[in-house]
Amino acid sequence: MATENDVRQDIIDTCLEMNAIGLNQGTSGNVSVQFEDRMLISPSATQYEKMTPDMIASMDLTGDMPDSWDGPLKPSSEWRFHWLALKQRDDITALVHAHPPYATSLAILRKPIPACHYMIAAFGGMDVPVSGYATFGSQALANHVITALEGRTACLMANHGMVATGMGLEQAMWRAGELETIARQYHLALLVGEPHILSEEEIEDTRRSLKGYGVQDG
Ligand code: 13P
Ligand code: ZN
Repeated sequence: MATENDVRQDIIDTCLEMNAIGLNQGTSGNVSVQFEDRMLISPSATQYEKMTPDMIASMDLTGDMPDSWDGPLKPSSEWRFHWLALKQRDDITALVHAHPPYATSLAILRKPIPACHYMIAAFGGMDVPVSGYATFGSQALANHVITALEGRTACLMANHGMVATGMGLEQAMWRAGELETIARQYHLALLVGEPHILSEEEIEDTRRSLKGYGVQDG
């Protein structure tokens, strides 16, 4: 069983990995995990290379939205959508928010990703939608993200980036990588012609086949 310190280290490792593989850069992006009845989340504006487990912020998930946290540094400015998703969704125990180039490019165009590739089935529906725009860190942005995530495991964020979720950090990170890949594939296809979009039946078949494939609930 993972200890709280293990989970804090997993958050740091995930932050480092998302920058190393080009999903994010600098201190953009943030990562959270539910641990028992609290949210552990990366601190705001902190270089990942300098992060240590004690710097991860901890917030209560049991009552109304908290106005305080435990830890020496402020939680990520985006703690509100992380907190609401962990609180409201039984199928989410971890979130990865990043600004990867292709997903963000489509988010700037405000283009949802349609069923242009069968892997859309990893995201809960027939598309990956784009949330509305609001200033980073605002409650309005958190509300837009939560709305866009309805029935989905990921969304793009208008003129900003993306959010991928999972049962566990490994699954959230797997989805983050798959989302940037499908965004790149869709973007490249759009440069050449009109992408063919798969049918609901084809995606439903894929969803059944995907069970047991990739990083599963854990
Ligand atoms: P934080 O450094 O506060 O986590 O913010 C980064 C970000 O991506 C804001 O949207
Ligand atoms: Zn951001």
